[in-house]
Amino acid sequence: MPLAGEPGFGVYVHWPFCAAKCPYCDFNSHVRHQPVDQPRFAAAFEREMAAMRARTGSRTVTSIFLGGGTPSLMRPETVGAVLEAVARHWSVPDGIEITLEANPSSVEAERFRGYRATGVNRVSLGVQALNDADLRFLGRLHDVEEALKAIGLARDIFPRLSFDLIYARPGQTLAAWEAELEQAIGYAADHLSLYQLTIEEGTRFHALHAAGKIAVPDGDHAADLYDLTQAVTAARGLPAYEISNHARPGAESRHNLVYWRYGEYVGIGPGAHGRFVEEGRRVVTVTEKTPETWLNLVEAKGHGIVDGEILSRSEEADEFLLMGLRLAEGIELDRYEHLSGQELSRERLAVLQGEGLVAPIGNSRLRVTPAGMVVLNAVVADLAR
Ligand code: SF4
Repeated sequence: MPLAGEPGFGVYVHWPFCAAKCPYCDFNSHVRHQPVDQPRFAAAFEREMAAMRARTGSRTVTSIFLGGGTPSLMRPETVGAVLEAVARHWSVPDGIEITLEANPSSVEAERFRGYRATGVNRVSLGVQALNDADLRFLGRLHDVEEALKAIGLARDIFPRLSFDLIYARPGQTLAAWEAELEQAIGYAADHLSLYQLTIEEGTRFHALHAAGKIAVPDGDHAADLYDLTQAVTAARGLPAYEISNHARPGAESRHNLVYWRYGEYVGIGPGAHGRFVEEGRRVVTVTEKTPETWLNLVEAKGHGIVDGEILSRSEEADEFLLMGLRLAEGIELDRYEHLSGQELSRERLAVLQGEGLVAPIGNSRLRVTPAGMVVLNAVVADLAR
């Protein structure tokens, strides 16, 4: 694991297609009934990389992440072409973490072996639940049997494996979640992402929730589920290293640590975001979300960037707080001062510490306590004011 304070330079590539749209999902994912022209997308990814490379200059990549959408709908040749393109534009040392997100229903052994042959060394599987009724409720195309088969295959083929589960589902009891989590830990190699079900605007669940057709656990029950999650994972050796991510020590996602430690990353593909230092200032890039529009933009002018800005020092400092305080390791106070040009308010820190929401780590770091994690956004807003 990179040392704290060495955030790294990641490359994120977004594959924007899914076989079906899950009713809770507000990611940039699209269903197409015609086959996607994968070589054309791969060529566009490479062109956009060239545009980003012209802005970042030469860099050493510390991690690559193929996210989506459902990147496991990409053929291994497409993944191989994307990874080769990354290596043509930046320096890619041997052995860096290369993650691909996969859905159990889009998995075939042959495809997994193909991904491994291209250099992918970590898979993040969208398992989401370990009972069929909840998988159907979540609109997933796989069942538990397929999920377990995918987990088994991934464990055989890839050095590293993570899988996601969604909890705080309607009607989910503490006992049911505890049993499911214990079962998941039994299958997990070394990393689990455990997200609470949230109702996001623009999703099918949002409409159903507004119509009173689904009810998610209320604040107290959701907090109890969160506390249980922390206790069970910690007791089983996969403590939270970030608010929703749990790993055996050393198995943390290096790519996600780039985000949370406020490192630099380029975002390639439809709807991808990037943040990197250009001419001494941190810039934001945002690309066009609609896949075909993005493709046309890239083919016409070399990139699909439709939005972006140069962050002010205070914006950088606020983002650094927002990301870093998600981590159990917290933030380095010197870095905050370096970014913002001032110390964190001692008065506000004293109040938050008195309320048991933040705690110092030695003299140099600050972390949010487990009680503070439940109200993290409020804690960050208070410190960032
Ligand atoms: S598979 Fe993932 S990205 Fe695709 S719709 Fe479902 S949750 Fe969203």
